[in-house]
Amino acid sequence: MKQKKPHAEKTVFAEATDSAPVYYECPACGYISGDPHFLDLEHPCPHCKATGKARRTFPTDRIRRLDERIRTYERQGDSEVVVILVMAFLEAVLEDVLDRIMESHGADIRLRRTVMDTQRSIGVRIGKVFPTLAGEEFEDAASELGYRDFPKRWRKMREARNGFIHDSPFNGPQETLNPQMAAEAMELLDQAYRLFVLLNNRFVADGVHRE
Ligand SMILES: [Zn+2]
Repeated sequence: MKQKKPHAEKTVFAEATDSAPVYYECPACGYISGDPHFLDLEHPCPHCKATGKARRTFPTDRIRRLDERIRTYERQGDSEVVVILVMAFLEAVLEDVLDRIMESHGADIRLRRTVMDTQRSIGVRIGKVFPTLAGEEFEDAASELGYRDFPKRWRKMREARNGFIHDSPFNGPQETLNPQMAAEAMELLDQAYRLFVLLNNRFVADGVHRE
């Protein structure tokens, strides 16, 4: 097994609220932190020590708007829409992770767009694109970061969603996406932010080109 670089800094998560969390991103190295001190430009980036540059916020507006809609449907008890939208949300988050890792490897926007356009299957993105970029399986990376069950729970939820939408002749129809599944989908949504930040800090802020 490949030797991991020791990490001096521990990722700080944003406070949990009833909306999308707010994180700050170092524009120099891509490191993401939920520590509000990070907004102060004189507070050095815990990863690369850069100061004086405005920090970007994470997640993006696109993700934030999707998050808001999901929570609205959840309050209304619309389990089916919640599950379907959370699956769309997780796919958007994964796309962002892959895009950021590619960028940290020096890939320009055209190359990144081509990879995303030609590798549209979520299974291929997880099973092939991620390991190629990160040098390890998605399941192993998630497990090492403390989210061992996340890939499996996500896969089962995708299967349920697909069964519901496509009415598979092989597995029989998935009749409903019930409130329990919606609750589980909401858990995956909350976990996805933290996992994204951890993956980012490991594979983007520690990007290959910086070693
Ligand atoms: Zn930095």
